Amino acid sequence: MRAWVVGTPAPADAEPLRRVERALPEPGAGQVRVAITCCGVCRTDLHLAEGDLPPRRPGVVPGHEVVGRVDAVGPGTTRFAIGERVGVPWLGRTDGTCRFCRRGDENLCTDPRFTGWDLDGGYADACLVDERFAHRLPEGLDDEQAAPLLCAGIIGYRALRCAEVPPGGRLGVYGFGGSAHLTAQLALAQGLRVHVLTRGAANRRLAQELGADSVGGAGDAPPEPLDGAVLFAPAGELVPGALRALDRGGTLAVAGIWLSDVPRLSYADELFQERRLRSVTANTRRDAEEFLALAGRLGVRATTTAYPLDDAPRALADLAHGRFAGAAVLHARAGPRSRPPGPSPPAAGTPGQRAWDRTAALPRRTPT
Ligand SMILES: [Zn+2]
Ligand SMILES: [Zn+2]
Repeated sequence: MRAWVVGTPAPADAEPLRRVERALPEPGAGQVRVAITCCGVCRTDLHLAEGDLPPRRPGVVPGHEVVGRVDAVGPGTTRFAIGERVGVPWLGRTDGTCRFCRRGDENLCTDPRFTGWDLDGGYADACLVDERFAHRLPEGLDDEQAAPLLCAGIIGYRALRCAEVPPGGRLGVYGFGGSAHLTAQLALAQGLRVHVLTRGAANRRLAQELGADSVGGAGDAPPEPLDGAVLFAPAGELVPGALRALDRGGTLAVAGIWLSDVPRLSYADELFQERRLRSVTANTRRDAEEFLALAGRLGVRATTTAYPLDDAPRALADLAHGRFAGAAVLHARAGPRSRPPGPSPPAAGTPGQRAWDRTAALPRRTPT
């Protein structure tokens, strides 16, 4: 089978991915094999390829927004039938026994395995997954649409909850790529006022099309104080401004796995009045199940740009340079539902459409 692996980490333009041929992997106990149709390109893949994230296993296949069909099952598996569509997310395995797993915070597991970092991921024709960590996907979304939900969508959902914006409250969204454009749809559906602050004309246009209440530049101040904000851009220099934009008691959640250094903060201007700064680390399977159900119900739509699997290096370089809005998706197979490579038509919504399903509320639960 075809696979891309991270060779020597290098800037995306220097093509750090290396193409290899590998034998089809055989599923072990508890694993199923997925014949991959689509794999989303996440910024984490870029951080890994460029060396911001240290490699955890040499020659690992990146990609953790994997959609495909089960084509082989290992001993002891029970969840999926051959031919069933599944999604393979970032959280590849947890130990289930550490103090964090036992208290329900498996996103903080002390011995986790991540798809596309520890375990071979989706920049390939096939991969293996522990069946307990695979997900069924909402019907009504084709494979290309479903792929970005598996990390960008799930992490954005967790980050939105971590920002703790009350019903009807004001949310700031800093950066507007694959994760943010899905999260903004959830927030708008929940009835929040959404202020998007991002660089790039294409991103700002997409934010407007999705119905954001205001759209400004990355360094701008939002037009009203924020109850909470999510920083999606991997830019630590945005943290002080985003904290200043919070109302008293507001929370800034940093969604990314990697952030450039945060400048020195002013306690009086940026933290006092019980402003909070917190990170978001991976997700639990419960986050994923909740989000996928919600995305199916609310009709969350990813704006995608398709690339053939063979063009993975170009997809990564385009992500590095912000050459598309929304999310890039690799196609391993030209199936009946695959579109030819190129930008998708505008996905969810026009400004007039933002009232759709605004009454739907996110499930609320005790903040984690
Ligand atoms: Zn654990
Ligand atoms: Zn990701």
